[in-house]
Amino acid sequence: MGKVYLVGAGPGDPELLTLKAASLLARAGIVFHDSLVSREVLQLIAREAEVIDVGKRCGQKLLTQDEINALLVSAAANHDVVIRLKGGDPLIFGRAGEEIEALRSAGVDFEVVPGITAALGAAAAAGISLTDRRAASQVVFSTFSRGTEGAPMDFGAITSTTTLALYMPGPDYAEVAHCLREGGLPDDLPCVIVSNATNAEQQIRWTSVARLAREEKLPAPALMIVGRVASRKVQEISKTFWRDEHSDRNGSRTSVS
Ligand code: SAH
Repeated sequence: MGKVYLVGAGPGDPELLTLKAASLLARAGIVFHDSLVSREVLQLIAREAEVIDVGKRCGQKLLTQDEINALLVSAAANHDVVIRLKGGDPLIFGRAGEEIEALRSAGVDFEVVPGITAALGAAAAAGISLTDRRAASQVVFSTFSRGTEGAPMDFGAITSTTTLALYMPGPDYAEVAHCLREGGLPDDLPCVIVSNATNAEQQIRWTSVARLAREEKLPAPALMIVGRVASRKVQEISKTFWRDEHSDRNGSRTSVS
């Protein structure tokens, strides 16, 4: 019986892989990877290994999650090193929970190897500190794609000292802008869109909550960082965007606009 490694491939740049991920890829027997994993990272997989793409193509799933779970369990019977390779970190919007549950209940040995999640790759690309002490005291990793019940995301809990990292914003920036404004985020609050963070095709667009609606779409995958820190001039940001710091603590928030 082999072992299944849930490995984070990072945001794209192969040099951002952990040493552990790279050495596991070099001795893998079989690798199941997502479509987000970069070509450069796939090139580090052992030549003899079987490589299976279980990702999505144009929104069409190649395999269901149950099928992937079953494949991981059966692969462990035939290979010493089974790798489930995911973009970024496996535990952030990576469906690792379902796979871990399947492996546990089948009694298959597994290990999680962390990777650099897209929010951190995007922040590094843009050169912004997610927790700049002058402007932010917390970071929220959120999805924009709707939950299983189809409910739109509610950003009402975002405060003036929160940095919001928005995964899966989708192509409709006007809808994103609408939801952020519905959540009470001020129009002028900075927002940065990072497409293909850490890859050769990387693009960065500095904008704001209100201007976002009119921005030209950047290629997927893209992530948005919203908050005071998402500006090139954090030192100039004091109370420009949010009127009353103290009201945050009482749960009510007032934006300038
Ligand atoms: N497990 C991954 C996230 C998977 S969800 C991680 O930890 O990063 C897929 C979303 O991640 C994309 O819609 C996009 O918002 C973001 N993403 C992944 N790779 C990215 C990259 N290189 N640049 C920008 N965003 C990225």
